[in-house]
This record gives sequence, C-alpha cells and structure tokens, in this order.
Amino acid sequence: MAGTYRRLRVIGKGSFGCCWLAEDERQERCVMKQIDISTMPAGQREEAANEVRVLSKLRHPFIIGYKESFVEEGVLCIITEYAGRGDLYQLIHDHKSCGRCFEESLVMRWFTQIALALKHVHDRKILHRDLKTQNIFVVGSGDGTAKIGDFGISRVLQHTSDCAMTAIGTPYYLSPEICQEKPYNQKSDVWSLGCVLYELATLQHAFDADSMRGLVMKILRGVPPQVPLIFSAEVRELVPDMLVKDPCARPSINQVLQRPVVRHVIHQLL
Ligand code: ADP
Ligand code: MG
Repeated sequence: MAGTYRRLRVIGKGSFGCCWLAEDERQERCVMKQIDISTMPAGQREEAANEVRVLSKLRHPFIIGYKESFVEEGVLCIITEYAGRGDLYQLIHDHKSCGRCFEESLVMRWFTQIALALKHVHDRKILHRDLKTQNIFVVGSGDGTAKIGDFGISRVLQHTSDCAMTAIGTPYYLSPEICQEKPYNQKSDVWSLGCVLYELATLQHAFDADSMRGLVMKILRGVPPQVPLIFSAEVRELVPDMLVKDPCARPSINQVLQRPVVRHVIHQLL
C-alpha cells in the first residue's frame, strides 16, 4: 500500500517529468520523482521501470535512499531521500561565483564517498552510466555527505559479458570508448568519476569545447588537464590516473579505492 505524500514544490525538471520536494505522513521530507508513463511506448515504460528496479536493489550510506514507488493515474512516482543541500553541480556553481575553491580535505571526502558508492554499484554488476555533478547529491549539515542518485539510465548487466551497448550520457563526461561508439563498461563510470574529481578540485569541466566535435577531439587526444599545485601531489596524480584513455589500462573502482591517498580517507570515514 503506497503512503500518502504532500507535494511542496518542484525542485527539478528532467526529460521524463519533474521532481517534487514532498512530505510523508510523519512530515518527513522526501523527493517524489514523477514520470508520466501513460503515453509512453512499452519500451520506454520498461526503461522507467528499470530505474525503480535498480534503486530498490541498492542500499548504501552514499547512495540516495529509496523508499517506495507506485503508479497513480498513469504517473510513476518514485519516492527517495531528500538531499537538502542539492546537487554538486549547483554547489560548484555557487562556489565559482564567489571565487572560492573547495578545500582538498572536502574534495577527497566527497570523492571517496562517491567512489565507495560506485564500488557498491559495480559489485552488483550494475553500471551507473550517467555519473556527473548533477546526479551527485549532498545530504546533511556541515559539509554534508555526498550520495549518488538518478539511476535513470543505469543498466543491470544481464550476461557474463561485462558490457552494455547503448551509449548515452552528458557530453562532458563521455569517455574515449563511448566517443568511439565502443561498449560502455565499468571503466567508463571510472572515467566519469575522474571528470567529477577534476571538477571538484578546479570548479571547471575536465574537458570543454565550443562544439561536440571539438569536445570529442579533446577527450580522445587531449592531455588530461592538471590539477593546480595547491593540491597535494597524490591528489593531483589521481586525476590522470583515472583519465587514462584506454579502458583496459584505466583502473577499476576497486583499484582506485586501493590508492594510498584514498585509503587514508576511507579510514577517516569509518
Ligand atoms: P533526471 O532523470 O531528470 O535527471 P534526477 O533524478 O537527476 O532526474 O532529478 C533532476 C533534478 O532534481 C536534480 O538534478 C536535482 O536538482 C533535483 N533532485 C532530484 N533528486 C533529488 C534529491 N534526492 N534531493 C534533492 N534534489 C533532487
Ligand atoms: Mg539527473
């Protein structure tokens, strides 16, 4: 039986509908993501159901918590935990406008939280496929906790082969293999995470250009951008480490978590 929710205000508009800040019966805040499935062809409806299937499988301190989902008058409603601090995209934007960088300790704390969440996802043979600052949320007071959300285009790998053929994503975070229309795999998520780390450190996109063509050229052939010297050598090295063009030579998320600079933060989180 679905709970009763009171919608308060729209907090985000996506390609499939909108996200509401809502309140449950106990006046606890949550998010209601609405997806109008009544007019969708069966294939798309299946994709919407995919998001619920994936989210409901994942329970982790650094993944946006799933509560329940139901269909009401042809609208699929997905209820999740509310991130009061919003998404990293907005937080980065705010910091940029007041000309301040995030401190290294905070960058590494958020990064490690996201990396641990991604390990949980990959360990379950799921690919996120759309890791970007807009899909990483910050919850709680103080500096808050970073959590991955929006599993809208994630994939559960069906077979023993470790790839998923469809290539989608936001251009800035596209990996070289996706630019070359090769299959998406776990390493492509690692690439996107490397782009997120760069952005947290510098408040700039790792790869940027005026046109799609220019962007793809940079992703395929450009040297990974350097993190400024105010960051420690270990953190500066982590970016090119994750932005290796060849996915086979790029570390897995487990290997990233083994890097001493990351292990050090994991110990502090536990
Ligand atoms: P889409 O598939 O449309 O990208 P998202 O789940 O990413 O859907 O939600 C779109 C936007 O709504 C987000 O970028 C964010 O601004 C807001 N939003 C979504 N979920 C939450 C949440 N749990 N807490 C706070 N804001 C959220
Ligand atoms: Mg999103």
